[in-house]
Amino acid sequence: MRATKRRALGQHFLRDAGIARAIVDLVAPTAADLVIEIGPGEGALTGELARRAGRVVALEVDRGLVERLRARFPSVEVVEADARAWEYGAIARPREGRVLVAGNLPYSVGKPILAALVAARTAIDEMALMLQREVAERVAAPPGSKTYGSLSVLSQLYCDVRLALRVPPGAFRPPPAVESGVLHVRVRPAPRVPLADESRFRAVVQAAFGQRRKTLANALARGLGLPLEVVRRTATTTGVDPGRRAETLTILEFAELARRL
Ligand code: SAM
Repeated sequence: MRATKRRALGQHFLRDAGIARAIVDLVAPTAADLVIEIGPGEGALTGELARRAGRVVALEVDRGLVERLRARFPSVEVVEADARAWEYGAIARPREGRVLVAGNLPYSVGKPILAALVAARTAIDEMALMLQREVAERVAAPPGSKTYGSLSVLSQLYCDVRLALRVPPGAFRPPPAVESGVLHVRVRPAPRVPLADESRFRAVVQAAFGQRRKTLANALARGLGLPLEVVRRTATTTGVDPGRRAETLTILEFAELARRL
């Protein structure tokens, strides 16, 4: 395959069996569980998943790899599919076990794949996902940290997220230009805070982080097209200082603001 296509598909293959095992250990599949693997590539995680899980469905977009994977792992259901658009909710849940997702995600589409998985959260119990380290850190960042942003809030609203492993470029062939991080994600039984209107919450969070250097009130007024005075007053009655920056607000504070604005 041409190097440009390999790069576009984020094909950096893990060649460290210890790291592959550590990723699979995060979700610890058993014979009762179904695992959806994303981007199996040459199968660095697939063998370990197939050995431990009751059923493995692997989504790979590269037809050449799909054929090789089918020949190498006959017990795995290898599906030629784009993980951004696959219908996760349509898969039958195992009667007793969990639905797990594991994968070393292609860097170029890591965020849209994560967004699709969070959107399909009711069909999933737990995930072990390798992403570009900087993106993994943003997803797991707590309020007050430099990397806390809308990606952190919108993921942590529905999931408990932990940056579990850091992986150096030398663990892959060919080595990527950046470091990687593995997230351990547990879908929460209910959102961290109850929301009356999810799309409003999303709009408030995106507006607040849309202009990080502005105060919260300025960013919200601009982003939502509301009068500054209204935003200031609402923030104050919510108990949030309108001069704060978006990155200091907790998910609960965003939810309260969204409810009143
Ligand atoms: N899991 C393997 C490993 O750890 O060695 C491969 C990981 S590699 C970083 C990413 C894999 O995802 C590649 O095999 C690539 O072809 C595949 N891929 C890229 N875009 C995809 C998409 N939208 N849907 C499914 N697979 C995709």
